[in-house]
Amino acid sequence: MLNGQTAVITGSTSGIGLGIARALAAQRCNIMLNGFGNAADIDALERGLTSHFGVDVAYNGADLSSAGACADLIRDAETRFGGVDILVNNAGIQHVSPVEEFPVERWDAVIAVNLSSAFHTIRAALPGMKRRGWGRIVNVASAHGLVASVNKAAYVAAKHGLIGLTKVVALETAQTGVTCNAICPGWVLTPLVQKQIEARAAANHLSVDEAGRDLLVEKQPSGRFTTVEQLGALAVFLCGEAAANLTGASLPVDGGWTAQ
Ligand code: NAD
Repeated sequence: MLNGQTAVITGSTSGIGLGIARALAAQRCNIMLNGFGNAADIDALERGLTSHFGVDVAYNGADLSSAGACADLIRDAETRFGGVDILVNNAGIQHVSPVEEFPVERWDAVIAVNLSSAFHTIRAALPGMKRRGWGRIVNVASAHGLVASVNKAAYVAAKHGLIGLTKVVALETAQTGVTCNAICPGWVLTPLVQKQIEARAAANHLSVDEAGRDLLVEKQPSGRFTTVEQLGALAVFLCGEAAANLTGASLPVDGGWTAQ
């Protein structure tokens, strides 16, 4: 069913976004990659996806902290592929600090990338989806869209906001053939979390392995990281016919974190 559809996945040069891009490419979607990284690595990624899955792959390096760049990303995908059928808003950054010391510039950056970029891309992609009477929007929120943790004011605010945005878009598109849902991962071992594990190891005089176990024990009852492949499979499910009437939902994939 997804064969020949076009998917834009923000922040897909790494981690969860790349996992979702691979899963959608395996369903034979054409892929618009986005995110930062070394040009040679990104080129290899594009060529690898094309040769492995036999789909068309393009890359746009838009910095999603700019509203104009978000709209340009969607326009570029529409021009190259003839439309955007699937939009995965995944790009995200983190900053950890107590609220009264939180640098204003980091607050603005986290809100821009983790929340506002999804508004700008959805705003740009929806008219085409509505015209074609079909679309799938998947927002990668977080367990931190459902519950809070200390020292993550901007991230938690942005992810709660993203879940609110998901619900509004779901209501506004309820009769259009478009669905909009949020995926809420717990801990996934990606570069974003690796940095937090390394900081915890340094602060608490632990090895990186010990700090990783510590991080899991504190929040995630399963004691296991969610994998990018599991999240890719969920995104594929949300894009399929079985999920045609599933909209406005926030789906935790968090080993029980938010059940507590
Ligand atoms: P990651 O650091 O591996 O990947 C982040 C991606 O976003 C990269 O491709 C990066 O280049 C891109 N990006 C960052 N700033 C950007 C910008 N201004 N413009 C365009 N692209 C930008 O991180 P990840 O863990 O894969 O995180 C992906 C998403 O999943 C984020 O929204 C994150 O909040 C969310 N998430 C992650 C976890 C986890 O445990 N890793 C848990 C819950 C939610």
